Formats: sequence, structure tokens, C-alpha cells
Amino acid sequence: MKAAILENQGVITYKEVPTPTPEPGHVRLQVKAVSICGSDIKRYVSGHRMYPIVLGHECAGVIESVGAGVSKELIGKHASVIPVVPCFECEQCQRGYYSACHSYSFIGSRQAGGFADYLELPERNVLIVPEELPFEHVALIEPSTVARHMLALGDFQKGQTAVVLGAGSIGLMIVQWLRILGASLIICTDVSDENLATARKLGAHVTLNPLRDDVVAEVRQRTGDGVDISLEAAGVPQTLEQTVPITRPRGKVICGGNQPLDKSLPMSFIENMMRRELSIIGCFMSYSAPFPGHEWTETVEALLNGGLDMDTMISHRYPLAQAPDIFAKIGDHALTHRKIILYPEGASL
Ligand SMILES: [Zn+2]
Ligand SMILES: [Zn+2]
Repeated sequence: MKAAILENQGVITYKEVPTPTPEPGHVRLQVKAVSICGSDIKRYVSGHRMYPIVLGHECAGVIESVGAGVSKELIGKHASVIPVVPCFECEQCQRGYYSACHSYSFIGSRQAGGFADYLELPERNVLIVPEELPFEHVALIEPSTVARHMLALGDFQKGQTAVVLGAGSIGLMIVQWLRILGASLIICTDVSDENLATARKLGAHVTLNPLRDDVVAEVRQRTGDGVDISLEAAGVPQTLEQTVPITRPRGKVICGGNQPLDKSLPMSFIENMMRRELSIIGCFMSYSAPFPGHEWTETVEALLNGGLDMDTMISHRYPLAQAPDIFAKIGDHALTHRKIILYPEGASL
């Protein structure tokens, strides 16, 4: 089979590799659509823990063969990849905190992922989906579950007000889930006016560009003491710092963006957080019990009933064979994009 392989920092090749055989309890998925995640880009640009590796965890396909002990009735079923592979035995797995598993693997970062014609994975890591869903929508289930999980962690309630900081893929998914779950006010911030236009299309009532707008003053002017919940999805210290003054006393701040490790915040951040008695909550991946969690089943429902607009999320579609060029362009900031879908040769573009 053909696969796009991360050989080293900044080096992806597209080449022939052995097709994996399904192990007992595993299945082989013929990949039909796979999306590029911001974390794939980071692994390409900044380097990864291991080489060579096939990246890609936002992945959809058809179960093409099964290993020993797996029902042959699964063959032909359409599926989305559930990328985390927990041990299901450690203390955290027992609690249902699968992303905190002591010894998890991850499809597309710690083991081979979906930038390939075929993907071999445990049966437990496929989410069977209705055939009527387009594969490129099914590939975007995982990023949707992250957004849904952030709102679950913040115990978001219908009628509440929210600020989403960052209108990248996760931020846009959060905007959609706030709309679906009935937020009374959705404010979204980003430095890109194009991203903000997309956020408005997907449900944001108010958009603010910090290059032009005083975000804190604008949010306070519209809400008095701030919103019920703020969601950091930009991964920059400036937006993290803004979360505290824009969130009402006893409100929730959910941190989902990966921050640079070598930056710091003024300690006034803590002082102001204390005065407002805020809850600051971290988010890592998108799982809850029973595995993989309600985030996944709710996403499939929202795809079926049209609540989630995935077409607007997608900006580009390319054959998987072009992965080396596409990643080079993204690395050079020469491609303005939202979600990019890659199609292996056996899938139709
Ligand atoms: Zn992802
Ligand atoms: Zn575990």
C-alpha cells in the first residue's frame, strides 16, 4: 500500500510500504478520507517523538478485513477512527478518564495512523457510523468530539453565554456546539477576519479581532461582569490571559489550546482568578465512559440531523499522494486553510 510517512522533522515522503495484516481482535480499515489536524502540523514542523511514523488520526474508512475473534459482519461497515488506545485496566481507565491512562497509545502519533491506504487498529477503536454520512464528514468526528468534551468539562448549560478564543478548527467546532446546545450569546475572537467570518456563518453572534478590538472591554460592555464560560482554543498566552477578566465571578475557563512551553503569564492572572473565584479547567482529548463517550455519539447524531455543518469546516481537498507538498506549503505558511481532507488513491476525491 501507499502511505505518507513522517521520516524526520519537516520531511514527509509518499511511498510503498507493507500493507498491515489485522491482528486478533483488530480490523483493517480501508481509508476513505483523512483530515490534517493542527497537531499533525506541529509534529511535522517542530519534530516528533519517533520516526518513521504515519501520522493522521482524523480518519474515516470502510472495514475491509478483520482479525481472529472479530465478527465478519463488520466487513463493509463505515467507521470513524477513535484514536486513543487506552489500556482499560489502570486506575484512570477504571475511572473512565481514558486520556489520563498510564500507558495509552495513540493512532497517528504513537502508532501508525491514517495517512495511508489502510489502517490496522483494535476493533474497540472503530466507531461504526451510518453509511449515509459522507466520509469527509466522518473524518471530522474526532475534532468535533474535542469541542463537545470542552463544553462537557465546563458543565455548559442551555441559555449560558460564552466566549470562544480562537476560530481555528477546534474553536469553530466549539462555536457550532454552543449553537447546537443553545447558548444565548456566542462571542468569538481571532486575529483572522476570514476565520471570524466563518465563525459568524457557523453561529457566532459577535466576533472580535484583537488586532482592532479591545476584547476585554467589548465583552464586558455586552455582558456586564463577563460570560458564564470562556473557552481558550488559540493556544497563545495573550488569549489565555484574557479569559479571566472576560469570565463572570464563579464562571468557568476551559483551556484547550496547546500553549508554548517557554512563555509565562503575570501572577496577576492568579490574583484575578481568585477574586472572581473562577474554575480553570484543562481539557485533553475527548473521552468519557462508556468508551469512547457521549461526545462521539452526540457528534454522529448532530451529523445526521444537520446540526453540525462540516462542509463549511473544509477548505481544501487533495489526493494523499500530495501530502509531502501540502505539508511543505503549510510549514511555509503558504496555504491559508481550515480543514484539509486528504484522499487515498482508493477513495474518490
Ligand atoms: Zn486532532
Ligand atoms: Zn489505562
